[in-house]
Formats: sequence, structure tokens, C-alpha cells
Amino acid sequence: MLDPAVIAATLAELGQPAYRARQVYEALTRGLVTDFDAVTTLPLALRRALRARLSPLSLTERETRVAPDGTARKTLFATADGHPVEAVLMQVAGRATVCVSTQVGCAVGCPFCASGRLGLRRGLTAEEIVDPVLHFARLLREEGRHVTNVVLMGMGEPFHNYEQALRACRLLNDPAGFRLAARSISVSTAGVVPGIDRFAAEPLQLNLAVSLHAATDALRDRLVPLNRTYPLEALFAACERYVGRTRRKLLFEYVVLRGVNDTAEETAALARRLRRPLYHLNLIAYNETGGEFSSPRPEEVEALRRRLEGAGVSVTVRRSPGGDIEAACGQLALRSDAVA
Ligand code: SAH
Ligand code: SF4
Repeated sequence: MLDPAVIAATLAELGQPAYRARQVYEALTRGLVTDFDAVTTLPLALRRALRARLSPLSLTERETRVAPDGTARKTLFATADGHPVEAVLMQVAGRATVCVSTQVGCAVGCPFCASGRLGLRRGLTAEEIVDPVLHFARLLREEGRHVTNVVLMGMGEPFHNYEQALRACRLLNDPAGFRLAARSISVSTAGVVPGIDRFAAEPLQLNLAVSLHAATDALRDRLVPLNRTYPLEALFAACERYVGRTRRKLLFEYVVLRGVNDTAEETAALARRLRRPLYHLNLIAYNETGGEFSSPRPEEVEALRRRLEGAGVSVTVRRSPGGDIEAACGQLALRSDAVA
């Protein structure tokens, strides 16, 4: 992916009129071309000149795995400086959702998440965040389909790379470019309070998800170490400001760790916090990442859902496809060192 400002500056340097920049940007974002040679509306000499100066792809595809049932496809890419970046395409219920990473690794260090174990290597640029979306859009186009949703829920904490994450959302949404509706884009945070406030003030109608995982500080300090910086009281005050300001639904994610955060005490605390208008909870069964935790059985997750619903919480169970190809949430980093 290339930023339109970079395209415009390069074409200006080449002494080209402004409409050429629009042609190139449209060829990349709507035509989904990966090579300037394919932009046949441009004179040959200009295609060559662009080729010598710019590269439309900021990532290189390294390896792809497809779930046997075809619902998930995980691709491992490498950045120009050799870092692993993974993205997943999920096709469920007529939707084609792309899950992208915002950082290589993550500094938050949640003990159940493989990305956390990698530590933080670096933030991705908006171009690197968006590239996998265009990659999967090309594949889908062969079947006459398109990307319907993008979630910034892969490796990394988006609000620890706020500028680039938001620039990625704006690039995806750009009416002159890829044109994905803002309401089809979701950003997931582990609870960076200043990031939530900043996000609430963004003009785009993007969706926000907060990874909760525990409803008491004692447990959340352990499961989401960022809680020591932004404890539950500060986090929920920010959530209230967010819904108050945006009037948009706020999604909470809760990875169910068997016997850890699904106890009666924790569940009661969770219900007390989430029984509010515009709050919605997604339960996600823990995917094995080789640590100390174990996955709940599907019927245990369903029982938890019913208990929470009975306590007045708006709650659903999110099916996380692709567990069999390690493409599910939290497993993105597991094999990534392969490319580094
Ligand atoms: N850092 C951000 C976004 C990336 S994590 C955040 O934490 O929200 C995206 C989601 O995947 C989070 O809800 C996270 O808790 C979940 N996740 C991480 N590891 C997981 C695992 N092993 N099984 C299931 N979900 C997991
Ligand atoms: Fe980072 Fe999110 Fe993984 Fe926690 S769950 S380590 S915040 S990517």
C-alpha cells in the first residue's frame, strides 16, 4: 500500500499533472494492482519511472495456511526489514473479515497471548497494516467477492501505535481509494485510557472493542498487565465517556480461561460492570498457546453466556475460526519466528 500523499509527491517530482496521482492511487486501491506496469492508463516511460522510485507492496508473502473447512486463511508476511507480520481472512456467515496486526509483537504481555510473549519489536506503518487487506481483497476478487470487514485485532496494541493505526483506518475508509465503510472497521484495545479518549474524538464512525478478560483488578492485573497502569475504575470511566460522546455500541472481549476468569465471583463482578445500555460482551473460548491456561468446553462457554444473560448482560459467543491452522486470535505469533 502507498499513501496518496507519497504518490502525489513522487508524480509532482516527475513533473506530472495532478490527475496522474489519482489514476495511480485508484489503480492500487480499486484496481488492486501490485505493479505499476499493470497501470496501462499510464505512458510506458512513466510506469518505468514509478517502478524505479516506489514499491506498491510494503510486505512480502511468505507462507499461507488454509483451514480444512475453508473458513480461515492465515498468511505470514515479512516486512522489508525482515519482521514477521501475520493476517487472517475469515469467511463466516457471508462476511469476509480481515484481521490485521498493528505491531510486531506487543509490549502489554498478556500471559495467554502469543503476541505478548514475543515482546515488542516495532510498530507497523499504516501501509504495512493495510497491505494484507489489499492482499486478501485480490484473492476474494477472483471469486467475485470483497472484503466486508477489517478488525485491528491481530498482533499488537493499536493504541500503542495510535497514529499509524488510525492512518490505516483512514486509508481503508478513503472515499477516493479503498472505500471501506468506517462502521465496518473495528479497533481492539487492551485498555489504553488516553487512546480511548482520543479515539472517541475521531470524526470517523469506527467501532471500538475493549479486551476486558477480568472484572476485578486483582485478576486483571495478572491477565492484562496494562491494568496496573489503567485499572478498572479508570478504564470504565473512559468507556462511559466513549459511549456518552459517540452514542455508539461498545464491545467488550472476554477470553474465557477455564477455572480462572469464569468463576462465580468473577462472573458476578462482570455482570455488575457490563449491565449497561450500549455495552455488549463477546465471549471467546481461549485458544491454546502453550501456556498455563486451558480452554473451556463449548458447553461451558454456553453456560457462562446464559448465566451472564440471565444477569442482564447483552452477550454473545464469538466463534473463532481457524484454530486448527493456528490462525485464531492470540496464536498469530506462535510460528512467526520462522521468517525473522
Ligand atoms: N492488543 C489488542 C488487540 C489485539 S489482541 C487487544 O488486546 O485488544 C485481539 C484479541 O485476541 C483480544 O481480545 C485478545 O485478548 C484475544 N486473544 C489473545 N490471545 C488469545 C487466545 N490465546 N485465545 C483467544 N483469544 C485471544
Ligand atoms: Fe498485546 Fe492484545 Fe496480546 Fe495482550 S492480548 S499481549 S494487548 S496483543
